[in-house]
Amino acid sequence: MKSNQMALDCALPIEERIGRLALAWIRGGRDGSQLVTGKAFFAVYSWHLRHWTDHDITWAEYTAASFHGIGGSDGWNAMLRERVICVSCGDTYRLENIGLCTGCMRYACYDCGAHASCTGEIV
Ligand SMILES: [Zn+2]
Ligand SMILES: [Zn+2]
Repeated sequence: MKSNQMALDCALPIEERIGRLALAWIRGGRDGSQLVTGKAFFAVYSWHLRHWTDHDITWAEYTAASFHGIGGSDGWNAMLRERVICVSCGDTYRLENIGLCTGCMRYACYDCGAHASCTGEIV
């Protein structure tokens, strides 16, 4: 499975997805093709920013390599200006002003908050 698909696959809790991605990346010789991009990167990086103290160095390394892969802070800032839609209220937000539900991997604005039907958190 491609890294982006794996990161966005709701079958596993997000921490387990990131753990597997990081491990596969290390085992594959830190190959750039195994890094995450786009929405998958947004999910991994946002989750990492909230939980970076909880997990090991491998995850931080994987996130840092992916950050570099999308173009570093320039790429990240460009991504934050992209517009996405909150599934609950249908309003459009810039990525910097909206969260992502790690349960269903859909966007959720901070007014709407967590999805009642999801076990994930908003990152
Ligand atoms: Zn909303
Ligand atoms: Zn959800």
